[in-house]
Amino acid sequence: MRAQALIFLGAPGAGKGTQAREVSKELGIPQISTGDMLREAVKKGTPLGLEAKRKMEAGELVPDEVVCGIVEERVGQPDAAKGFVLDGFPRTIPQAQFVDAMLERKGRGNPLAVNIRVDEDVLLKRLTGRRTCSVCGEIYNVHFNPPRVDGICDKDGGKLLERADDNETTIRQRLVAYNNQTSPLIDYYRKKKLLHEVNGNLEPDQIARTLIPFLKGA
Ligand code: AMP
Repeated sequence: MRAQALIFLGAPGAGKGTQAREVSKELGIPQISTGDMLREAVKKGTPLGLEAKRKMEAGELVPDEVVCGIVEERVGQPDAAKGFVLDGFPRTIPQAQFVDAMLERKGRGNPLAVNIRVDEDVLLKRLTGRRTCSVCGEIYNVHFNPPRVDGICDKDGGKLLERADDNETTIRQRLVAYNNQTSPLIDYYRKKKLLHEVNGNLEPDQIARTLIPFLKGA
């Protein structure tokens, strides 16, 4: 793959995390999820976590300078030297401009953005049914991809948790934030000819089966 920075775009529930995880494993480059890093900070109760918590619970975006700071720090770590998958970042035009400037400064070429398109009724089912393993982070869905034993991860027996922001009120607000602030990024990357679109209504396995060979050859 020529692009060192792979960006996953898509509404909440589109499957960014699921696909980014697969791609990261297959290409041997780290998955950098701003949502996961922020949730970790919230759990630890760090100053960053305290600042982010209220916004996340309200379904609003955390300020650009906060997320740009944590991404810059993470991308500078040795395991990201050959490339990385950005999951849930950028989410605003200023964040996308920050990525461009950062890649240029580091001499790392253009990013490639993968947009996962999903119908809104599918998004809602994915978000309300989502469960995540508290140990390994594997993502399940009680409607589409249930674990063998209710509430328990198939891989390591970890407890499956529901995200605090996967409730109806917050979901609605997250979709508003996506439509207003994040969806303009599709055109941003399309105009630069750095966009690849996939049909996210398909099963996760089906998406990965065509996406991964495409990325390996891109
Ligand atoms: P996610 O796990 O990607 O769905 O993110 C969960 C929440 O974390 C979002 O609803 C935002 O409140 C916050 N967040 C994650 N990534 C970003 C970002 N790039 N910019 C601003 N807020 C973010």
